[in-house]
Parts: sequence; C-alpha cells; structure tokens
Amino acid sequence: MKILIVEDETRLAEATAAMLRQNAYSVDLAFDGETGSEKASSGIYDLVILDVMLPKKDGFEILEDIRVLAPETRVIMLTARGELSDKLAGLKNGADDYMTKPFHMEELLARVDIQLKKTSAVKSNKLEYGDISLDLQLCMLKSRESGESIPIAGKEYTLLEYFLSHPGQILSRDQLYSKVWGWDNNIESNNLEAYLSFLRKKLRLLGSKVELKSVRGLGYRMGMKDE
Ligand code: CA
Repeated sequence: MKILIVEDETRLAEATAAMLRQNAYSVDLAFDGETGSEKASSGIYDLVILDVMLPKKDGFEILEDIRVLAPETRVIMLTARGELSDKLAGLKNGADDYMTKPFHMEELLARVDIQLKKTSAVKSNKLEYGDISLDLQLCMLKSRESGESIPIAGKEYTLLEYFLSHPGQILSRDQLYSKVWGWDNNIESNNLEAYLSFLRKKLRLLGSKVELKSVRGLGYRMGMKDE
C-alpha cells in the first residue's frame, strides 16, 4: 500500500513517514502544495495524508484535484486544533477522514489502517483479467485455463497488480515508473522494459493470451492477444 504525505512541517512529515514505514507502508513526501497536488492526483497512491495550510496551494484545492483526477485515492486531512469550519469543508469536499494537530502517531496509524482496510475490502484478494488471476495474498500468478501457477514478487508483482487494476487502460511510462519505483529514485530508463519482459515471459510460460502491449508514444496497456 502506497501513501503520500503532503505536509510543509518537514519534521512532522518525516516522523509520520518513519512511523508508517515501520508499519510496512510505502511512503512518499511532498512539502508544498504544488508538488503535493501533482503527486496526490497521479492515482498511484492508495491514501494521501493532506495538511490544509500549505505553501503555494492549500489542502482543499488539492483535495478537489484528487477527487477529479484520482477519485479512488483515500484522503485523511490534517489541520490545526479546533478549526471546525475546516473540518466541515474537508468532509463536504470528500475527505475520508480528518485529524487535528497535534495528534498521536498511534491514532493516525489506526485511522490509516481503517481507510486502507476499506480499500482492500472493496477489492477482493484476487485480481483477474482474461485467462489469468493474481492471488494478492499468496503472490501467485495463475492460469485460469490450466490451473498452473507461478510465484511473482517485488517490482514484477507491483507492476502486474497495477496493470490488473486498470484493465484495458493505457498507462503512461511516468505512471508506471512512479507506481513501481516511486518519485524520488533515480533509475535506469530501461528498467521498465526489463520488468515488462520478465512479466511477458511469465505470461507466456502459463500459456496466457494476456499481453502487455506497447502503445506508441503513450505507454502500455494490458489486453488480449487476439484483439
Ligand atoms: Ca501546514
């Protein structure tokens, strides 16, 4: 599960990130509203922890961007104690939860867990497309035709899970890079192709008709061989 923290108080942001990472979440940070908005509305995050008072663009504006561009992303808003009108505005504009600062890390963690459990309860523990299914608990890629399955892990797993969550959609190289490698890492530009070819090899091994197609100039999409 991938979380973005948009918070200009860097020490608070870093401490929150450290706590979430200890609890096995993958966390990115943004310290101003502009960067925050760009990342938060990318659709690659399961949850955004969003401060209200931010330089360049405030949390409510960012929330509007998220609701338009990444409606499935859950949002927990943070604000200073007692700003009740902010609380109402946040919930009306579609925040999933709200916390006032200062807060206890345990409470934030509990609320994050609740939001993300809702997300994963909506999804089943299996993603299916065409003749394949991916078991999200066992991390196994399975052919629904032959019943054969192979283990899949790490970046290959993340990449495939992302394709399976967006069947038939064109996913840009930027989206794929950010989902799999995050924003802060400098990576070799051919890494994506390498992982795509690992995945294609696994699909072939299972005799699947599912293909990861390159769409020139736009990115990649998952489709069936004979479409
Ligand atoms: Ca702030």
